[in-house]
Amino acid sequence: MALNLIILGPPGAGKGTQADRLAASKGIPKISTGDMLREAVKAGTEVGLRAKAIMDRGELVSDEVIIGIVEERLARADARNGFILDGFPRTVAQAQALDGVMAGRVPLIVIDIAVPEAELVRRLTSRLVCGTCGQNADPSDAQAVTTMRCGKCGNALIQRSDDNEATIRERLKVYEKNTRPLVDYYAGRPTFRSVDGAQAPDIVAAALVDAVESARAVVAGGSAL
Ligand code: ADP
Ligand code: ZN
Repeated sequence: MALNLIILGPPGAGKGTQADRLAASKGIPKISTGDMLREAVKAGTEVGLRAKAIMDRGELVSDEVIIGIVEERLARADARNGFILDGFPRTVAQAQALDGVMAGRVPLIVIDIAVPEAELVRRLTSRLVCGTCGQNADPSDAQAVTTMRCGKCGNALIQRSDDNEATIRERLKVYEKNTRPLVDYYAGRPTFRSVDGAQAPDIVAAALVDAVESARAVVAGGSAL
């Protein structure tokens, strides 16, 4: 049965890191709207050119553009056996559009990764990412951090242009206003789970796997969805 998963949480919660791990272990694609937008910026497409300024201010790209990108991605063959969405939905309108797309597909499992704000700011101001493959550097990987090279592809680690203090504050504000309401949007579903993201990455990964399995049991049982 397909695993159709959304990972919710504020910027810096570890969504990307955890989604990468889970996608690799389950053999399904990770679909990150942030990564797709950064690729569009790099490629210099029209969407990329418009998105760059919005992202650097910490604001959201329009629902219309993002929903179009995600609909097109979810329609591809490799998403038929499941997917992990990272960074989408970020607004109630996006969540409603996704529910529309999901009609007739295996129900969504929604996992919220919760982390206190002070910890988010600390993580984001010190975060390093690979400028080539986009993977987050593991802060405990001393070799990667001292050589400033990606542990996965060996290319240079950089600080994302939106990981500066002013933009981080704005992203957290935008999260509170637009994205946190999604926790209420989904919390009543029997396939919603919350995990404590303020723990070591391995502990969070284990909690995430448990949460996914318990929600999957509900989907398999077909109860009250
Ligand atoms: P974060 O570390 O803040 O979770 P992402 O890589 O997910 O960062 O997103 C970076 C930026 O890309 C966001 O601040 C926003 O400008 C834009 N973006 C990504 N996903 C969406 C979305 N679903 N809707 C609108 N804008 C988005
Ligand atoms: Zn890399």
